[in-house]
Amino acid sequence: MRLANKVALITGAGRGIGRAIAEAYAREGARVAIADLDAATAEEAAAAIRDAGGEALAVAMDVTDEAAVQEGVATTIDRLGGLDVAMANAGIQHIDPLDKLEFANWRKVMSVHLDGAFLLTRAALRHMYASGRGGSMLYMGSVHSKEASPLKAPYVAAKHGLLGLCRAVAKEGAAHGVRSNIICPGFVRTPLVEKQIPEQAKEFGISEDEVIRNIMLRNTVDHEFTTLEDVAELAVHLAAFPTNALTGQSIVVSHGWHMQ
Ligand code: NAD
Repeated sequence: MRLANKVALITGAGRGIGRAIAEAYAREGARVAIADLDAATAEEAAAAIRDAGGEALAVAMDVTDEAAVQEGVATTIDRLGGLDVAMANAGIQHIDPLDKLEFANWRKVMSVHLDGAFLLTRAALRHMYASGRGGSMLYMGSVHSKEASPLKAPYVAAKHGLLGLCRAVAKEGAAHGVRSNIICPGFVRTPLVEKQIPEQAKEFGISEDEVIRNIMLRNTVDHEFTTLEDVAELAVHLAAFPTNALTGQSIVVSHGWHMQ
């Protein structure tokens, strides 16, 4: 049990990568708060963890809403007895070329990723500093924290921004025993990615198979998707790491798509 007696809050954990991480944390002994905009999926994910013998709390939270984030973090601390690990995972994608991109869509993507990560960070740090126990801040970046792709400008900009936030938290948090790291996955087949396949096929005028083969997996070493299990294992490792030796780092889990 690598996370026994720890409390973890994960945003966007009603489905996809966040849910897989919440399940892995619960299997490792953590009490987990599943925060999501979609209250029904958060409740379903929490119930599945409880059915499997774990401890989980569903928290309805729009990460772009300052009051909702503060309240969700406070409820987690109150109901689960603290906060040791906070992961800003909630994210959205928007596919458009830059010259056609509506300002509102740019702002929406930036807001979910960056405002959301900031609001969670501030609420979590206030508790981690005051408790004297420190903690672990984690961010869900992407290979797009390191590289750009066409049609994804707001996502690429936001994911690069998260890298900066992660490093800033590592600098400020160290004195309070807070570590900060960012996970940068390649493509994982979640609803977020399934939606992009037909969108990109249409935009580039190619087949869906070609989107997968020639765009998504083109630069991997073995033409494989990264899996939920791969990302969850790394998230457990980073949450459980015991010292400030591992802080301010970005770890790319992408079948070699990006090598650093
Ligand atoms: P997903 O669409 O399957 O799940 C995202 C979850 O976030 C959903 O449950 C959704 O309700 C929630 N969410 C969206 N907006 C929210 C908001 N404002 N407040 C709270 N919750 C909100 O996506 P996923 O693929 O699991 O992605 C999770 C994270 O991983 C994202 O940050 C994404 O950018 C990142 N990521 C995904 C991939 C991939 O290939 N799937 C690769 C790299 C990084």
